[in-house]
Amino acid sequence: MTPMNEISDPLPILSPHVLDSRTNRTRGRIILAGSGPGHPDLLTTLTHKAIQSADVILADKLVPSGVLDLIPRRTVVHIARKFPGNAEAAQEELLSLGLAALQTGQTVLRLKQGDPYLYGRGAEEFAFFRAHGFPVTVLPGITSALSAPLFARIPVTHRAVSDQVLVCTGTGRKGVPPDPPAYLPNQTVVLLMSLHRLEALVESLFAEGKAYPKDTPCAVVERASCPDQRVIRSTLEFVCAAVEEEGSRPPGLLVLGKACEVLFERTASQKWVVEEGFAGFDGIGESNLEELGLELSASLKEARIGPQRMVEA
Ligand code: SAH
Repeated sequence: MTPMNEISDPLPILSPHVLDSRTNRTRGRIILAGSGPGHPDLLTTLTHKAIQSADVILADKLVPSGVLDLIPRRTVVHIARKFPGNAEAAQEELLSLGLAALQTGQTVLRLKQGDPYLYGRGAEEFAFFRAHGFPVTVLPGITSALSAPLFARIPVTHRAVSDQVLVCTGTGRKGVPPDPPAYLPNQTVVLLMSLHRLEALVESLFAEGKAYPKDTPCAVVERASCPDQRVIRSTLEFVCAAVEEEGSRPPGLLVLGKACEVLFERTASQKWVVEEGFAGFDGIGESNLEELGLELSASLKEARIGPQRMVEA
């Protein structure tokens, strides 16, 4: 039997350019990949290889700078110019830049934040490129929906506490808010794209038919895995006041349910607790970065979970 480490690279996307037998030209290739929640060490090895081998990279605005720093200088990079009111135009611009590069036989990497299929419009882009005759290779990414709770010490399932996780969005299409889920005591709910309308969202969770108890534990997890990660632990009763007072640090998400208090104990008098900073990976991530020939940024080196700050009733 061949030992695992002797198997040669089985990944066709990383092989040299493919020649198109009809045109005798290099055939353009498109890879759609997720870049994880923020920290560059959370890229998969495969996506990292794709970053190094692509001719053109089309990146979302949310793709963090630590990931963009890994792109070789020779690579052409376009970053989506998404701002409120321009999202559609920016998306179309990016897709047509990608198509133009593919038609000249280049390898294009469409780099998304988190996982490409979780609120990432990944399948729309897949369909677009396929319709133009370019099959798409899709690479998964670590989603913020599951990793942000993890970095906030929230186990999304836990025996006898939560046996299911629901991932949903607080933002609907064309500004219409989606119907929030009804309360289930055994469920952890992760709400992406929800903090900008937190007050309306929380109000809708208290409405008839949804019936969330006011003391439902919750956490706002922002910039998970980045040096400026912040966790605000509270309950539905106080979370709006907490965010109002502490301000927001996008991107962030809201976690609801008893799982928030499995590894964290709230005292009755606490309205909320703020935890600043990202603890890193106990040196594991640092050595990986060095292997990549990269210096850790000073801010990342210094990043440590700061002291807890508590706001009492
Ligand atoms: N495809 C992405 C999600 C895109 S939607 C993924 O799988 O993670 C964008 C939303 O993701 C943001 O509004 C925020 O709710 C969440 N998000 C992305 N990165 C995050 C991070 N580092 N920390 C907390 N939330 C994050």
